[in-house]
Amino acid sequence: MPLSDSVFHRISRIAAEQGVEAYVVGGYVRDHYLRRPSTDIDVVVVGNGIALAEALARELHTKLSVFKTFGTAMLRSHGVEIEFVGARKESYTHDSRKPQVEAGTLEDDQLRRDFTINALAWSLDADRFGELVDPFDGMYDLEEGIIRTPCDPDVTFSDDPLRMMRAVRFATQLGFTIEEQTFDAIARNAERIKIVSRERIAVELNKIVLSPVPSIGFELLELTGLLALIFPEMHALKGVERRGKHAHKDNFIHTLKVLDNVARRSDDLWLRWAAVLHDIAKPLTKAYDPRVGWTFHGHETLGSKMVPAIFRRLKLPLNEHMKFVQKMVFLHLRPIILSKDLVTDSAVRRLLFEAGDDVESLMTLCEADITSGIDAKVQRYLANFELVRRKMKDLEERDRVRNFQPPITGEIIMQTYGIGPCRVIGDIKEAIKNAILDGEIPNEYEAAHALMERLAAERGLVKA
Ligand code: ATP
Ligand code: MG
Repeated sequence: MPLSDSVFHRISRIAAEQGVEAYVVGGYVRDHYLRRPSTDIDVVVVGNGIALAEALARELHTKLSVFKTFGTAMLRSHGVEIEFVGARKESYTHDSRKPQVEAGTLEDDQLRRDFTINALAWSLDADRFGELVDPFDGMYDLEEGIIRTPCDPDVTFSDDPLRMMRAVRFATQLGFTIEEQTFDAIARNAERIKIVSRERIAVELNKIVLSPVPSIGFELLELTGLLALIFPEMHALKGVERRGKHAHKDNFIHTLKVLDNVARRSDDLWLRWAAVLHDIAKPLTKAYDPRVGWTFHGHETLGSKMVPAIFRRLKLPLNEHMKFVQKMVFLHLRPIILSKDLVTDSAVRRLLFEAGDDVESLMTLCEADITSGIDAKVQRYLANFELVRRKMKDLEERDRVRNFQPPITGEIIMQTYGIGPCRVIGDIKEAIKNAILDGEIPNEYEAAHALMERLAAERGLVKA
């Protein structure tokens, strides 16, 4: 029984007292049938939604947040948010996704919803409590896994183009198919995405990235023409160029494989974004060399430099998460290069030093980056990776290089030789760091100090 919670019975009684009808509608009903957890409940009242919410809040002795301009009110009960709204009819103008609203019937209210699966309602009337009201066969679409608009999809998407992003997002989250007419209407109306705020688009993109198989979403964005409009750098990854016997792989398809591989191994939103962006500079660094074929030299460096501008435009946060993504993009070739040649201690130490605590994430990204179709090749890489991991563990125990701070600081050098800040200090520090990373001296104060004295003497410095 979906409506066992006592709060639904309270709403039912108050609605009867106030002489109005109330329904649970939208995501909560959908997610119940899909057996997905959901934390927000939407209640539509045919009449005054705020008045009903106020009466309920009084009974429950809880705080009510009222949003007069939207005609909605929200309260919290047992950790779930319940939002109340009066049933409404909407009409849109061409330049805004914010409608004019007027009071309407339940059917008007269901008709303004984006998809048939989001228009399901349960009655809270005492004599038909829990009865499903489903005028657009949403239950059929839910069972068949179909995203379809309740009215003319061209009108639905032109009115509020955010719904195009939501269609793709639901298809990705739920593994549903976008019905053909609905899909074609998205492709026809893609340009309308321009009137949607980038913050709203970012919310949907993040939900796509966090889905079990995120590639579904990016494929759909690409096929509908939305990707070129909202994220042109990713769209530019698509395509293959051929010269003579040389063709490069389609970097869009490759990126999506890497993203799905990461998604199988990690729920971390930012590591998943690193997968999306790891080859983002390939189109810009692409060059043809008749001897070796296509090259993308420096794409990891340029790619990591492109991250801030992309984050800014996509309205992703410009904080430590962005820095993490930059670091992953910058280092994403390192473990693979490492495992191709001899895995020396010094190379592994350097990687540990540069990746710090993010070294596990980096290894996950790199393993995900192996998408070769040739099985033997994949097996060989993965075996080498195992070797790199073992070496890391080994060195970590011996040398503690992760997050390592060289034991000789600039201050020590300045004090010892009575000098102010200058180039030679940086040179000495760098040389000490390299000596430690290369295993020439142990990561200890005594050894580092002795090396400092030698280097200083070579540079003509005398103790103060
Ligand atoms: P989720 O909570 O996973 O984002 P949801 O479907 O519950 O999914 P909400 O944003 O919580 O989405 O909205 C609740 C309901 O309001 C939806 O189920 C849908 O009926 C309706 N809705 C939300 N956004 C729109 C929109 N842009 N156009 C039409 N109806 C919408
Ligand atoms: Mg919801």
